[in-house]
Amino acid sequence: MPRVFSGIQPTGEPHIGNYFGAMRNYVALGEQYGKNSIYCVVDLHAPTNPAAFDPALLAARTLDMAVANFAAGLDPQKVIFFVQSHVREHAELGWLFTLLTPVGELERMTQYKDKAQKLESTPAGLLMYPVLQAADILLYKADTVPVGEDQVQHIELTREIARKFNHAYGETFPEPRAVLAEGALRIPGVDGQGKMSKSKGEASTLGILEPLESIWQKLRVAPTDPARVRRTDPGDPDKCLVGDYHKLFSDAETVAEVYAGCRTAGIGCVDCKKKLMVGIGAHLGPIQERAAALQADPDYVRDALAQGAREARAIAQPIMEEARERVGFLR
Ligand code: SF4
Repeated sequence: MPRVFSGIQPTGEPHIGNYFGAMRNYVALGEQYGKNSIYCVVDLHAPTNPAAFDPALLAARTLDMAVANFAAGLDPQKVIFFVQSHVREHAELGWLFTLLTPVGELERMTQYKDKAQKLESTPAGLLMYPVLQAADILLYKADTVPVGEDQVQHIELTREIARKFNHAYGETFPEPRAVLAEGALRIPGVDGQGKMSKSKGEASTLGILEPLESIWQKLRVAPTDPARVRRTDPGDPDKCLVGDYHKLFSDAETVAEVYAGCRTAGIGCVDCKKKLMVGIGAHLGPIQERAAALQADPDYVRDALAQGAREARAIAQPIMEEARERVGFLR
């Protein structure tokens, strides 16, 4: 059976792009592969940009990310869900991999180049980020990694690191494959400025735990098809982010009704957005209720994370021991 690994950044509240692009996929893979689905909040990766890092927030955001995933349907009894820093072997295997990885290869990583050029001084950890990511995956000998397109290059590097280790010390690690999360990159931001992204700020995102009133305030002013200058002008829902959102949140009947209504000017944009809110409420309401219950019971969340870390260590420690032996450390 395949073993799935995915790391989740503790970067605050997930938005609907994360939900449809990644979180729902985690739940589906969990149903399929059970405890062979390993998900980890990657808090060791968080401080790689010291300028944007807030130590006071890290633990709270880590807990929030667990709450959001559990509320979205991930069952910690069915999958392994834990916090990266609770399993120390991630850092140890990461170090072994730095010894095998040429600096030049890391400097060619697109994400590194993008991030480094915005910084005055580049921390070595930012350069090593994909090496730690390789350790996250290979510490469990995972062979299947659901990712967005921007991470494919890092998974290629993980394969390369596995090959190098196996060549130097004998066959130890599998070469994992990236599985692209369907639709992950196509969800537009509510500000109409391209893809929904946390890095563009809250004006771009609809949070899955965001109060519905706040979501409505953003939707109310969201741009629509510019062809609809007057209520009587027909529009094209395929050129409108509200049309895209209907496909995510509304039932087939509503989608057909608003798409036809838009093209014939039979429906106004405000009414179209109100219909969308019905679907959003039906979708996000239960998630937000579960999140509120989990937030009221932080001990449950902490216990689930502690259990997840125990399960993760039970897999990771023998693999780390095997790697230590291969490299030749005195035992
Ligand atoms: Fe967009 Fe709906 Fe207005 Fe058409 S009717 S332009 S889909 S908001």
